[in-house]
Amino acid sequence: MADRFKNFIDGKWVEAKSGKTFDNRNPANRNDLIGLFPASGQQDVDDAVRSAKHAFAKWRLVPAPKRGEMLYRVGELLRQHKEEIARIMTREMGKILKETRGDVQEGIDTAFYTAGEGRRLFGETTASELPDKFAMSVRAPVGVCALITPWNFPMAIPTWKLFPALLCGNTAVLKPAEDTPHTAVKLLEILEEAGIPVGVVNLVHGRGEEAGAALARHSDVKLVSFTGSAAVGREIASACGENLKRVSLELGGKNAQIVMEDADLNLALEGALWGAFGTTGQRCTATSRLILHRDIKPKLTDMLVARAEKIKIGDGLDESVETGPLINQPAREKVHRYVQIGKQEGARLLTGGEIYEAGKWIDGYFYRPTIFDQVTPSMRIAQEEIFGPVLSIIEVKSFEEAIEVLNGTAYGLSSSIYTNDVARAFRAMRDIEAGITYVNGPTIGAEVHLPFGGVKDTGNGHREAGTTVYDIFSEWKSIYVDYSGKLQKAQIDNAE
Ligand code: NAD
Repeated sequence: MADRFKNFIDGKWVEAKSGKTFDNRNPANRNDLIGLFPASGQQDVDDAVRSAKHAFAKWRLVPAPKRGEMLYRVGELLRQHKEEIARIMTREMGKILKETRGDVQEGIDTAFYTAGEGRRLFGETTASELPDKFAMSVRAPVGVCALITPWNFPMAIPTWKLFPALLCGNTAVLKPAEDTPHTAVKLLEILEEAGIPVGVVNLVHGRGEEAGAALARHSDVKLVSFTGSAAVGREIASACGENLKRVSLELGGKNAQIVMEDADLNLALEGALWGAFGTTGQRCTATSRLILHRDIKPKLTDMLVARAEKIKIGDGLDESVETGPLINQPAREKVHRYVQIGKQEGARLLTGGEIYEAGKWIDGYFYRPTIFDQVTPSMRIAQEEIFGPVLSIIEVKSFEEAIEVLNGTAYGLSSSIYTNDVARAFRAMRDIEAGITYVNGPTIGAEVHLPFGGVKDTGNGHREAGTTVYDIFSEWKSIYVDYSGKLQKAQIDNAE
């Protein structure tokens, strides 16, 4: 008998009203059924939003430091359950244990960072232009927030959204990705154990087109925070636009690492391998283009191919494995399709480019680390997000050309340059069009206390993490207190 998991609505674990479920399977072994999860629809979403709306009336009045203390407790519980959650996560989404431990750690870091913010949550006081008048701005909560999240960071991303949302006094409905519902159940169990009041956080599982779309369109949802693909982001933004609803979007990337001729090649090699093939290339910040100065290109390419061919592929629960499977069959088909496109476009396949099926790994969605050479900047494999272990090498003759190539896509999330020339490093920091730039580090590795997000088609101008996330989850309210005892007319010409 398969385990049956539930939604969490109004403090209770409940099935979908329709009784329908969907399967969650291990991508390293599709015969391993993790469990059945509710395939929720409009009614379930309505119940969850009603519960969050009801809870908002009280939660918004809990002092922010108290809300922060509860989040601190959540952080401590996450720490206690870190190993258990990491194992659940690896089983349901495939990345290796070191990475799933890191994913949970980001949730812990976010909890502690956000808890401290409960004693800041600063507004401003400022001078008034009139005598005997006081002026200040404060942050107010927005209301019920819909949090719609992807599968590649099943703990980090929900917590990046949820903890700041709660700290600001909002309540929430979380709709996690269909491929990682079990991690979300663990998070809700921990929130319940930490004593987050009934209705403040609700969990609704289900398909994006059904549960996700119903949530984004719900009239009592005041804010949608979405992380996922650009295609779905556009749909959600349109739905929110029609209803003048606040929406924050964190979307795809086509991130590049530049290596200049003066760089430390061993360092650049480690960065490229980790950036391109960590999480099997399934990070929004993954390195999918490697822009190499022609003087070092032959040497670094040889080093890279030799190492990529040695990467140990397998089940992420095996500690010796370096890269796990892709998330599901459509993802593997998509990666393989892009490999064929790359070949047709005239790129040269140096290694990989095929499904990995060896021994006991025939039942998972494995794919070999793949490297293309002779890629030109306009090829589809250099422009479109593949979201798999496929790296495209582009040769350039100068620093200026490297920056132009890096900037030449629709996305602008993460970027990296390896150089020992300090002037070039500063020019790159200034001229690269991206939300994140690393110097002598790979494109992956964000820290929770700095803003996270991107420019161009990567989003709509918001930044998660850092202190910037509070601008997503709060409304600014300006307050004027007049203690002059008479009507002082502002906004007319008082100058005499
Ligand atoms: P996805 O867009 O397919 O799904 C994301 C979430 O949206 C899931 O919960 C899904 O069920 C839901 N959804 C799907 N259709 C919907 C609809 N019509 N209405 C409402 N909700 C809907 O993305 P994915 O495959 O889960 O994740 C991979 C994508 O996420 C990549 O493009 C990656 O770059 C991006 N990503 C971005 C960031 C970032 O911070 N910028 C971080 C991680 C992943």
